[in-house]
Amino acid sequence: MDDTLETTYDVLVIGGGAAGLSGALTLARARWRVAVIDAGAPRNAPAAGVHGLLGRDGVSPAELLATGRAEVRAVGGQVHDARVAQVVRDDGGTHPFAVTLDDGRVTRARRLLLATGLVDELPDVPGLAERWGRDVLHCPFCHGYEVRGRRIGILATGPHAVRQALLFSQWSDQVVLLTHTGPAPTGDDDARLAARSVDVVDGRVRQVVTEDERLTGVVLDDGGTVALDALVVGTTMRARADVVGPLGLAVTAHPSGQGDHLVADETGRTSVPGVWVAGNATNLSAQVATAAAEGTWAAAQITMDLIEADTAALVGSR
Ligand SMILES: Cc1cc2nc3c(=O)[nH]c(=O)nc-3n(C[C@H](O)[C@H](O)[C@H](O)COP(=O)(O)OP(=O)(O)OC[C@H]3O[C@@H](n4cnc5c(N)ncnc54)[C@H](O)[C@@H]3O)c2cc1C
Repeated sequence: MDDTLETTYDVLVIGGGAAGLSGALTLARARWRVAVIDAGAPRNAPAAGVHGLLGRDGVSPAELLATGRAEVRAVGGQVHDARVAQVVRDDGGTHPFAVTLDDGRVTRARRLLLATGLVDELPDVPGLAERWGRDVLHCPFCHGYEVRGRRIGILATGPHAVRQALLFSQWSDQVVLLTHTGPAPTGDDDARLAARSVDVVDGRVRQVVTEDERLTGVVLDDGGTVALDALVVGTTMRARADVVGPLGLAVTAHPSGQGDHLVADETGRTSVPGVWVAGNATNLSAQVATAAAEGTWAAAQITMDLIEADTAALVGSR
């Protein structure tokens, strides 16, 4: 297949990050006609490297996805640079899903794999967003090793800050919990933090300070400063799911309290027949390897579902 958009596919994959490309690779290798539609804004785009990924530890996010696209195309799948504007399910016979791109083109599919990822809503502190993914961090397994032994501030904005501070103390003995807008440590939190040598600094953070393209600390409301090499934040994670509303799929609050997601079973199957979801759009804590694995797993389920449908049609026609 070349990359001309066809009128129909067996499967359309919406989103070409780790989850979508991995799903598309498995689907194309299973000899389905598959296209990925990708708006090109993966969640980890600001990061220098993908860490904790066996075989490609530290590869740049852009290089990983470029390699993935080439692998999908090499086995006959398509990848299109476009944004999906709308998805509807009608009674269009064998290809019930109509997918409209933002340039107005429409294509149809028998099955859909949603792999649109999520958006991180950052705490509203001046200077913070500019450093996101570089020295403003969220995930110890993604970045902890890169800031090992350094001065790490944990910006408390919710109930998970104490756990984040304890986690990062595995990577550094210079961790500071900045109470900011988070709830005050309760119960035995103070003892647990002290046991892990985590200092607690009271006060609201007014500004993130950067010098020579490097985070150097924060300024508190009372004018005091805390020198840091990295700042850890909790983000509110929101599944990118605006386009699938007409399917009857709604984002739901995630049980962790850290955002919202599309609900699916353990195979990625949603409540809408024929629609699967993989990666951060459903699993907010999925790293790249997990997102890719979920894409592969959903692709295997879609393959079986299509084979069942084709077999039933063949039996019926005999
Ligand atoms: C700063 C940062 C650093 C990270 N570092 C690491 C790390 O070191 N190691 C690690 O394992 N994980 C890391 N992660 C996590 C990693 O980003 C996710 O695990 C991964 O991106 C999830 O893949 P995904 O395919 O579900 O979503 P994404 O990678 O976000 O891909 C979703 C794709 O869907 C596209 N899309 C969305 N809506 C539409 C639409 N309507 N039409 C078409 N396309 C659409 C988007 O443009 C995007 O290209 C990091 C995350 C962040 C925020």
